[in-house]
Amino acid sequence: MKFGTYVYEPEKAAGFDFHVLRVKLETGDRIPPVQDMYSNIAVFADNAATRSHPDWISQSPLGPAQMGNNNFNIYWSVVCATQPEHRAEQLDYIEDVDRHSLGVWLNSQYFADHSHCTCPRCKELRKKSGLSWFEWRRKEVTDYIAQVRERVKKELVMCIQPDPVTACERYGVDFDDLAKYADAFNVVMFSKNYATAWYWEMLARGFKKLLKKPVYISLYVYGPGDAAKDVPSASELLTVSVRCARTGIDGILYLANGASQIRDFQKAAVDKVELRKRLKGYGGEPVQEVLDLVKNWEKIVE
Ligand SMILES: [Zn+2]
Repeated sequence: MKFGTYVYEPEKAAGFDFHVLRVKLETGDRIPPVQDMYSNIAVFADNAATRSHPDWISQSPLGPAQMGNNNFNIYWSVVCATQPEHRAEQLDYIEDVDRHSLGVWLNSQYFADHSHCTCPRCKELRKKSGLSWFEWRRKEVTDYIAQVRERVKKELVMCIQPDPVTACERYGVDFDDLAKYADAFNVVMFSKNYATAWYWEMLARGFKKLLKKPVYISLYVYGPGDAAKDVPSASELLTVSVRCARTGIDGILYLANGASQIRDFQKAAVDKVELRKRLKGYGGEPVQEVLDLVKNWEKIVE
């Protein structure tokens, strides 16, 4: 297994195999990529683009993909996934970011949610295609990812929502289609607590069965603007890491604002001496790899 950080600031905490930097956020904010980190880019979720071009926003019978439309789990405003200018600009941007970092991890590279998009262009494109609604959306997403693959020379990772069953109906995402172009998948499993590890373990197991490329999962440690009382405890994070590891996944990333929050987590994890002992009995080799990682942190957090 491999272990990484998933961060908003370009500082690399010690004790991990790799680091993914959030170079373009769903707000549309961008920071420069870093040569020895991977780059995470939110493609269609982009508040800045929808602010500059209100007509680019994804449409549906239940309203636009706009922050505050509670018909959907949408926390950002999302550009229509067929918007040609946004698509072209993002392709150029992705190519440039790839050149200046270790590779590209994409998220929000698909339709906003179910029933999207019904803007006039999408209606026209679908009619011309002669395909069913679901088949047309799937083709739009897959064709765009094929174009991305032509631009990305280094590693290309597909971040996906933690929905193993209706990804196609909701987002136009077909896992097998994306596996043809992706070097790996990253299942985003962000939560402010991991009190019931069983569900996350089940999701990890499901995705490991479904996905035909290496599977990473991402766990939530400490986001921008969080207070200590808002975030998962080190005990929950250790337990859920071990329980997901034993499903055979290929790696775990830990999301935090920056390296200092990662170091706080490492220190708290090291301090869970009793729990670390107990978790040794939770599985075979992959579980030991997680516990060895924490053991290794002992030297770092002193
Ligand atoms: Zn549209």
